[in-house]
Parts: sequence; C-alpha cells; structure tokens
Amino acid sequence: MRVMLNSYPYGKIRALTMSYDDGTDNDRRLAKIFDDNGLRGSFHLNSGYLDNDNRLTFAELPETFRNHEISVHTVTHPSLALVSNEQIIREVMDDRRKLESAAGYPVRGMSYPNGSYDDRVLSVLRSCNIACSRTTLSTHAFKLPADFLAWHPTCHHREGILDLLDTFKKNERRSLSCFLVWGHSYEFPRNDNWDLIEEFSKRAGGDDLTWYATNIEICDYVTALRAVQFSVDERMIHNPSGIDIWVTADNEPVKIPAGKTVRL
Ligand SMILES: [Zn+2]
Repeated sequence: MRVMLNSYPYGKIRALTMSYDDGTDNDRRLAKIFDDNGLRGSFHLNSGYLDNDNRLTFAELPETFRNHEISVHTVTHPSLALVSNEQIIREVMDDRRKLESAAGYPVRGMSYPNGSYDDRVLSVLRSCNIACSRTTLSTHAFKLPADFLAWHPTCHHREGILDLLDTFKKNERRSLSCFLVWGHSYEFPRNDNWDLIEEFSKRAGGDDLTWYATNIEICDYVTALRAVQFSVDERMIHNPSGIDIWVTADNEPVKIPAGKTVRL
C-alpha cells in the first residue's frame, strides 16, 4: 500500500485562496463577489486606518468577512525590512490586538506591507506567533511554500488569472496544488475592471475537486498534514494536531481525525 500526504480535506485535490490587502471600502464589493461564488480568502488590514475615509469600519468587519479571514497588514503599513525590531513588534502585535477585538478569534495570518521582508523580519514574526505571511513575489505556479512566513503568491490578479485558472483546473493529479491570487480591491475601480474578478470568481467557483479556503486555513491544514506520524510499516498513522487531515492510501482518501491513530 502506498500512503501519500497529497490530499486536502474530504479528498479534494487542489486549493484556491484569495489574498487582498489594505482594507479599503472596496473590500465590501469584493467580499460579496467571492461570497456569491463560494470563493474564500484573507483580507489583510491596517488597523490604524480603519474607521477613516474610504476605509472599512471596525464595526462592519465580522459581517463583511464572515466567510473570510481577518488578517494582519500592520497598523500603519511600514516596510518591515527597513524598521527596528521594536517597531515590527509594535506594528504587528497592536494590529493583532485591534483586529482580534473585532474578529473574535486569534489573528495569526499576515501579508507584508510593500512586500518588504528579510530573514530578520521572519525571526521577529515567529516571536509574534504569526503563522503565515504572503509576499508579493509571483511564482505563476501552484506550489505550497516550505516556510509559510514567506508564502509567494501564484500571481497578482492582473497577471493572466483566467488563463492560469484553466491550467490549474486541468491538473487532476494529487499534488496539493494551491492557487493564491493577491491584489488590492481599490485597483478594480481605479482600472475599471470589476468584471475581471467577477468573471474569474464565476469560473473558479462550484468545483467539487477544489477546496475554497482562507490563507490561514491552508497554512494550518498543511502544517498539520506535515506533522502526521507514521509507524515504520506505514500501517499506523497518528495525527497529533487538532485538525482532521486526509491522506491517500493507494490513491483513496483516508481521514485521520484530530488526535487519533488510524490503522490501515
Ligand atoms: Zn498594503
């Protein structure tokens, strides 16, 4: 029997996740487009600018993002590689604290303001218990990161997302493929192209083989999957995490419930 770590929840073979920055009021329309088509994602917010002109309010966050992740983008959007450790900690932890009071759950996801990070930033973020953070470096591929603190997106939405979606959906192999699209919702009115993301969402939604998830859900699931424990003969599999995971045994999905050992 061949056991492989190549399945998303319920045996789904690929994951799609959206990742939008800055928290302008155009997020309302964008979240609604995702909701109408069953897409899910993460909205990375600067808490220092919420409740201002052309921004979301704290009060509306839980309802607007009820199907999505509320995520850190720092309080005031500095380039983190250019500031002190102290400022990184304040910017991240104050953003977490303010967003958590609106979200009602621990906020552990992030994206980098101006795409700015380096090894020092990563080590500070680990101390802030940030689990994943998205960069702005497009890969035009569907790979999961080795380190979720340097999670490179597939592409920005202006970079041929409809063609990439066709390629993504054609691949029927179990390879934990992940399509991550990033951008800012204010770009749609600026470039008069709301129809682009509407068309993408319509075409991307409703696929039984795709897991529609937030950034942090994918990070948490894959982290749990990578931490699964095997007996030497691979007949016993233990899942020490708090998340149900699925492996495949001879290409068939097998659920390993949270905290349980399964004998194949
Ligand atoms: Zn930003």
